[in-house]
Amino acid sequence: MIDKKVVSLVKERAGGYCEKCGLPATDSMALHHRKLRSRGGKDTPANLLVVHHSCHNLATDSIHLNPEKAENKGWMCPGWKEPEDHVYVTPEGSFALLDNEGNIKILGKA
Ligand SMILES: [Zn+2]
Repeated sequence: MIDKKVVSLVKERAGGYCEKCGLPATDSMALHHRKLRSRGGKDTPANLLVVHHSCHNLATDSIHLNPEKAENKGWMCPGWKEPEDHVYVTPEGSFALLDNEGNIKILGKA
């Protein structure tokens, strides 16, 4: 189980929206690990995204079905990198970094 405090930090950061597609969240959202647990990814705010289940792994354009695109968008983090150092592209198209306090730091526009 993911620590409740971590979950609330990530949900607060997401602000009621999917962190992949930018559409409003639904009652049931997935917590996606940017750096997969199998690659050593941890349950930290920088490593987690709140996403729709369709955005996670169900839709044809979902994160898990498009790993290369997902890595370019920062939805996935390679095993050799730390999620807090891997740039994440927001649904609005800004480059950003996520930290482990639940903050999102906008670096610039894509
Ligand atoms: Zn979504």
